[in-house]
Amino acid sequence: MAPLRRLANLGLDLAFPATCAGCQREGEPLCAACRPALDVRLGLPGGSPIGLPAEIPIPLLQLDWCAPFTGTVRTALHDLKYAGERRLANPLGAAVARRWARIGVGADIVVPVPIHADRERRRGYDQAALIAEVAARDLRLPFVCALERGRATVAQFELGRDDRAANVEGAFRVRGRGTDNTGGTGPSPGPSPSLNPSPSPNPVRGRWVLLVDDVVTTGSTLAACATALIQAGALAVSGIAVARER
Ligand SMILES: [Zn+2]
Repeated sequence: MAPLRRLANLGLDLAFPATCAGCQREGEPLCAACRPALDVRLGLPGGSPIGLPAEIPIPLLQLDWCAPFTGTVRTALHDLKYAGERRLANPLGAAVARRWARIGVGADIVVPVPIHADRERRRGYDQAALIAEVAARDLRLPFVCALERGRATVAQFELGRDDRAANVEGAFRVRGRGTDNTGGTGPSPGPSPSLNPSPSPNPVRGRWVLLVDDVVTTGSTLAACATALIQAGALAVSGIAVARER
């Protein structure tokens, strides 16, 4: 994408027509002719049922995706992430919702896999959160940014399959929990349970969470998120991504 276009998309989305990520035609970020690339798996049955040996990393209950990470889908995800074309979150999130509506079991809140806060500051947005927000809207489920990255991790694509789980293990935590960042209003003079405000409600306790990410490969990032959510009291966690890279 040309620098001028990139600049335009960062600040003036509405003033410039989008260019289709699939065919480069001007008009929509992903035109009607190219959108079916997102639905190539729509008619397939969902991932392996619970209880059977599967490629689903523990503790995820389901792991699904809309399309392989190739061609138009790959370009669209790339343009959303690196070219500032935030409008792509709409067709991508809608595809996630269509797939989940077809094969999803359970799940009553939608939570995005977070990028590291430093990266979000540099980019100005979190692409998985944008996708998840659209998906939640279409699925009529609450959208909750419940997770944060507690430490920076190496980009998963830079690692071999065997190193990926270790890279993200323990990297996520549920917001507002823990001792270092409880979002209080000021320094507390000490423990005084009777005066402390009641703890902020834990948005994941007792909930079946649908985790949303842009791309899934081994699923180890989703599994690390799921572990943090379950430790925080989530009932169950399923995962879906726009694309799967094999
Ligand atoms: Zn197109």
